[in-house]
Amino acid sequence: MNIMEIFDTMEYGPAPEAANLGLAWIAEHQPFGLFINNKWVKPASKQYIESINPSTSKPLARVAAANSEDVDKAVKAARTAFESWGKTPGHVRARYMYAIARHIQKHARLLAVLESLDNGKTIRETRDIDIPLVARHFYYYAGWAQLMEQEMPGFAPVGVVGQIIPWNFPLLMLAWKIAPALAMGNTVVLKPARYTSLTALKFAEIMQEVGLPPGVVNIVTGEASQVGEALVRHPDVNKIAFTGSTDVGRSIRRATAGSGKKLSLELGGKSPFIVFDDADLDSVVEGVVDAIWFNQGQVCCAGSRLLMQENIAERLVAKLRVRMEHLRIGDSLDKGVDIGAIVSPGQLKEIQRLVNQGVEEGAQMWQPSWACPTEGYFFPPTLFTNVSPATTIAQVEIFGPVLVAMTFRTPEEAVALANNTRFGLAASVWSDNTNLALDIAPRIKAGSVWINCTNLFDASSGFGGYRESGFGREGGKEGLYEYAQPVWEARMKQEFHIAENSGNGAAASKSSADGRAMAAQQEAGEEEHKDDAGENDGMSAYRDALPAIDRTPKMFIGGKQARPDSGYSREVYDRQGRAIGQVGEGNRKDIRNAVEAAHAACGWASGAAHTRAQILYYIAENLSAREDEFARRIVQQTGVSHADAAREARASISRLFSYAAWADKYEGVVHRPPLRGAVLALPEPIDVIGMACPDEFPLLGFISLVAPAIAMGNTIVVIPSPQSPLSATDCYQVLETSDVPAGVVNIVTGHRDTLSQVLADHDDVDSMWYFGPLEGCRRVELASAGNMKRTWVSYGHTRDWLDTVQGEGQEFLRESTQVKNIWIPYGE
Ligand code: NAD
Ligand code: MN
Repeated sequence: MNIMEIFDTMEYGPAPEAANLGLAWIAEHQPFGLFINNKWVKPASKQYIESINPSTSKPLARVAAANSEDVDKAVKAARTAFESWGKTPGHVRARYMYAIARHIQKHARLLAVLESLDNGKTIRETRDIDIPLVARHFYYYAGWAQLMEQEMPGFAPVGVVGQIIPWNFPLLMLAWKIAPALAMGNTVVLKPARYTSLTALKFAEIMQEVGLPPGVVNIVTGEASQVGEALVRHPDVNKIAFTGSTDVGRSIRRATAGSGKKLSLELGGKSPFIVFDDADLDSVVEGVVDAIWFNQGQVCCAGSRLLMQENIAERLVAKLRVRMEHLRIGDSLDKGVDIGAIVSPGQLKEIQRLVNQGVEEGAQMWQPSWACPTEGYFFPPTLFTNVSPATTIAQVEIFGPVLVAMTFRTPEEAVALANNTRFGLAASVWSDNTNLALDIAPRIKAGSVWINCTNLFDASSGFGGYRESGFGREGGKEGLYEYAQPVWEARMKQEFHIAENSGNGAAASKSSADGRAMAAQQEAGEEEHKDDAGENDGMSAYRDALPAIDRTPKMFIGGKQARPDSGYSREVYDRQGRAIGQVGEGNRKDIRNAVEAAHAACGWASGAAHTRAQILYYIAENLSAREDEFARRIVQQTGVSHADAAREARASISRLFSYAAWADKYEGVVHRPPLRGAVLALPEPIDVIGMACPDEFPLLGFISLVAPAIAMGNTIVVIPSPQSPLSATDCYQVLETSDVPAGVVNIVTGHRDTLSQVLADHDDVDSMWYFGPLEGCRRVELASAGNMKRTWVSYGHTRDWLDTVQGEGQEFLRESTQVKNIWIPYGE
């Protein structure tokens, strides 16, 4: 088109960004090597893969195809570097990270061009969104490196982390992963997505420029089956951070089960975009454009389900079609286009397949009248109406520019429809009624909720999923805990490691806490005598002779004592092997009933935190009235001295007080990202938590898990220690007399691993805690992949439950909550 024609038609002319500097940089470097120890290394296989420009479908660059040998080399480099980087003062790390941020800004244009060439996303987005956010992340986390010593006392880095990222925001996903990892003192092996390695390789060059110590960041490119899997399975990697599809996330969960590797997963979504009838429809239309046509819809949190209040649906759809007609699609380097190319032919085919399926399923498809460019991988913006909520296109992630629209009548229906998916990544709520919007936001199961806005991101505000959208958060302070661990835990692992390598693994698995209990056990006989002699209730002489009144505790389900479904009981023994009682033998049915009861009690979460605090105090009060009885029960089951047992009972009361205190004080924060507005970061309950209690400290172990979970509003199904269940079953009366609503705490006794398996398999359990043998931990992690529930397991280690550093506090609160970020912009 020449200028005169443009004048005539008043059409947009092309406004291309120059590609020459990007292409020159590629030409200078290719074929690209692997970045290990700050050097470019040839891949062991001597194989290369081609990266294409999706706007033209022409080859762009050749990058190394690594294999497991290269991964091993990179992990070794990261391990060696960790020896010193992990001890480098926060201020020094902050200086490096500040330098990285500065260099990203210096190379901003080149990075934006490379990203657009390699991915097909528009230059407007890479230039104005991706790259500035990348720099922002390094600035923000440089700050946390600086503050780590003061703000995270008692925390240490995790070690060598393996990071695997997708292709949709190549450099931004790298920044989300690398910045917090370096801030906390970890070293990194990162695998970019197969189609989009170039900006990661430019980033590697920046690492050389800023003189980051060799081995701190290593970039290994190649195929998932070669590089990704090798990284996931590598025995010397301490953590895997993954962003990608839910299916691959599930396979990584399974592959790492029982390995002790820390894991965070940012997975897919099918996020609702909810429009109430009082919303400003013109803003809504622009919102929809940003929700589903931003990055060609290849956005994990894309607002891909448009939920419209029925009475405005027709008007909104009409407006949307007009807007869609005016969207411009084309070469990613054209500054005037709204929509770029789809990343790969495979992805394009998949979008087409799902769209065809939508048509077959009876939904009505609409696309603008104009045609897409024929070279390159383009797909037009697409709108489905008349979609029924159970169909494929309403349920699966299409990951393309395809919007499915549905209608609702009432706010209740809107919430139900919004939550009618296995995912829970994000949501947008549009209404001019603040009361309504702020009432809806907490009821949607999603990690981010945008009110009258969409797809906003900032380093200060955590991002991550509920349900099958994964677990763990990136961004914000909460993102730091994915890359840090308590010092005591790091030390324990190290001792265990040393002992294991010197062939003394069994001894090492006993922590000092357990050792103390065993030593106490040997003294127990004597002390008990002393205690008895001190009492004078006139009965002591007969105590041994009196037959005990039989009391066989049942299960505790839905606030009632329930007989075990199996009709069987199991014997409970003391440490000398003498029978001291019986408890019910729980089975699958009991667990199912308990989960159902826990779900039915979900009102617990929406009640006032003040009420939960009162109830926890009340439990403590009632436990304290029977403190001595509880102490005796501990002695009977474990053989510890009465003094130790009394200490455990008192510690349990104190612990209840702690969580009564926390119940109305773990409230979240307000973020101030660079926009006019605020972000409320609210810790919400996870919902239903299953928990298997440790054998050590039968009362304190039980209380330490139950109290934080219910304080934060969860409802729970608890399996008491199978060895010493009676302390837990003795709590029934305490719970009954403390105003704990029915179904909030459910207790099922029996075989720990059998019952845990049922809980871990259960689709209506949202998190599973397991404190027991390593094999049981492995099975729980394995089974959890079914609905991608969160897990918290002990890997066979014991902790000192008496120690408040190990046995209570923020770690427990974090495990009891998930953070929801509610974005509230303001101003006209
Ligand atoms: P993907 O799961 O196919 O691949 C992601 C990464 O994992 C790539 O680097 C890939 O090479 C690697 N990988 C694939 N199989 C692997 C395996 N078995 N072991 C180890 N690594 C393996 O996803 P994708 O197609 O690249 O990206 C699209 C998906 O990512 C979408 O589902 C999207 O929702 C999700 N995503 C999520 C977020 C988030 O933050 N939640 C962000 C971006 C993308
Ligand atoms: Mn649930």
